[in-house]
Amino acid sequence: MAESNLHAMRMGPGKHLHGKTLYGGVVKPEEFDYFHEMVINQELARVQARGYGDGFQAGTVIGLPPVLNYANPTLKKEIVDACFSGKKNISLAISEAFVGSDVAGMRTRAVKSEDGKYYTINGAKKWITGGMHAHYFTVGTKTDKGLTVFLVPRQEGVETRPIKTAYSAAAGTAYVTFKDVGFGLVFETMQRDAR
Ligand SMILES: Cc1cc2nc3c(=O)[nH]c(=O)nc-3n(C[C@H](O)[C@H](O)[C@H](O)COP(=O)(O)OP(=O)(O)OC[C@H]3O[C@@H](n4cnc5c(N)ncnc54)[C@H](O)[C@@H]3O)c2cc1C
Repeated sequence: MAESNLHAMRMGPGKHLHGKTLYGGVVKPEEFDYFHEMVINQELARVQARGYGDGFQAGTVIGLPPVLNYANPTLKKEIVDACFSGKKNISLAISEAFVGSDVAGMRTRAVKSEDGKYYTINGAKKWITGGMHAHYFTVGTKTDKGLTVFLVPRQEGVETRPIKTAYSAAAGTAYVTFKDVGFGLVFETMQRDAR
């Protein structure tokens, strides 16, 4: 999938495809559109095993776009290349046990240190697709500025536990906890104030 640039195509049309040979050259990167993306999704569905299909980077499909769109260029290149190569996975961690649709009500907190140099994240996220095998997490938090998204690499203080779902464990659905996870300000590039 990585060799045919399928992982990159699953992010939809855009500059991230430029310079790549897509599926042996069947479509030019600048001509790739949402119809082609739909064909990919339909072909993945034809496997008729949703957990298995979701195990193929479904977490990355929803976790990577914030990095693709908002991370600084150095960080973006590192994470995006790693995920497109299939060597690393990233998950989107927004939902919480009591907060699904009501995203604004999330309780995970990121608190800035007194010297303003880093944040400390505490909280828990539920139903995180691909979380069991994710190397990075795109994490929704509350800060004193409102809603802020952080890119969190798996590290000490980040714990993932499997959640039993109605489909397959292959999807890696996880309960993810963040306990006193600290970050330098470089990750603040992804901050967006709550509207
Ligand atoms: C298999 C699976 C994978 C998932 N993967 C991820 C993931 O990777 N990352 C992640 O962050 N989350 C993930 N989720 C969580 C998912 O995003 C939430 O389940 C979803 O947002 C719904 O939230 P909830 O389950 O708390 O339901 P609730 O928000 O409690 O909703 C319950 C019901 O109430 C309705 N409802 C809610 N609010 C309103 C309203 N204001 N007006 C009218 N009706 C309303 C809903 O339509 C629904 O029918 C996953 C969930 C599943 C099942």
